[in-house]
Amino acid sequence: MMKADTIMLHGGQSSNGTGASVTPVYQTAAYAYTSAQELADVFAGKAPGYVYSRIANPTSVALEQRLAELEGGIGCITTSSGMAAIASAAMGLLRAGDEILSTSGIFGGTVSLFANTLSRFGIKTKFLQNNSSEELGKVISERTRLIFFETISNPAMDVPDIDRFAEVANKHNIILVADSTATTPILIRPKDFGAHLVIHSTSKFINGHGNAIGGAIIDTGLYNWRQGRFEDIALLAKRAGQMAFLSHLRNLIYRDLGGCASPMNSFLMLQGLEGLGMRMQRHCSNALALAQFLKSHKDVKWVNYPGLAESGYYGRVQKYFKGLGGGLLSFGLGGRESAFKFIDALKMARNLANIGDSKTLVIHPAST
Ligand SMILES: *Cc1c(COP(=O)(O)O)cnc(C)c1O
Repeated sequence: MMKADTIMLHGGQSSNGTGASVTPVYQTAAYAYTSAQELADVFAGKAPGYVYSRIANPTSVALEQRLAELEGGIGCITTSSGMAAIASAAMGLLRAGDEILSTSGIFGGTVSLFANTLSRFGIKTKFLQNNSSEELGKVISERTRLIFFETISNPAMDVPDIDRFAEVANKHNIILVADSTATTPILIRPKDFGAHLVIHSTSKFINGHGNAIGGAIIDTGLYNWRQGRFEDIALLAKRAGQMAFLSHLRNLIYRDLGGCASPMNSFLMLQGLEGLGMRMQRHCSNALALAQFLKSHKDVKWVNYPGLAESGYYGRVQKYFKGLGGGLLSFGLGGRESAFKFIDALKMARNLANIGDSKTLVIHPAST
């Protein structure tokens, strides 16, 4: 089996028989066939092939294979954004009356999707208060179908006890979804600790250069779809086995919602992935050095970085993330006014809203 650093360079490589050393950008909407029968067979799923880039595109498929390999998953679907990935996964699993249990302190767009948008379709979300597995075990109900957490939450930087979350999920036969955007496969493969689905906003660390928006859903293969609590997927699993969810997603939900990845963006993500290993190591060592510096500065009231020895999450960083605390840190200067003054005085760090770029950013989350 290839190691992560090798997969990042070679996984899913496709050269279309031309010997091209880089996966080409298949900038095409549709795919032509020589006979009507051939196209009909591909359409019906009886023969392999591409039909229309809303459903699948070879550049995006190369990225999907690379991400699935990196996560140790059975397959992946790339999407137009991280939000499209979370929305498609949720819409593909849930019905009116179902409930999501989610950690709190997570990405604002996800909070809004759960609280404002999915609620319009009768899907309720309960947000945990202290993000502990004990609380999770207590608030679970008959209607809970999905547990959602971020590996390192953005912006609160909580690190849930992932294998305890998996225990609770498995006990109730509920799907456990990990948003691993802030950790990437370099810090953790959520599959190794029991997550059933892994989500990435590839716009962030995976891209790494702030030049494209994208997302991905990886099925780790750990959820038994045949015996799962999702009737239509269980039915499909009789024919499609463990690929049932990805098939249901690609051929129905994702096809109907239309949140497909653009081939050009998938190309940029493939390029970004090539340097991810080195970038993540550097993000983590820089963030740790900065956290240590800020901690000893007289004007800094508090520093929150999970990789600091005094952080309540330090133990989990060792257990789950190989000791790497991630590329995000927060600190307090005593209020909005001093924070704004500090941001305005910075010469290099840019004031913008896209984590995971190789260039440092600074933002005041409470006012954005
Ligand atoms: C940015 C982000 C998202 C949403 O991704 P987009 O690509 O911006 O749609 C989801 N989860 C986390 C943790 C994020 O940081």
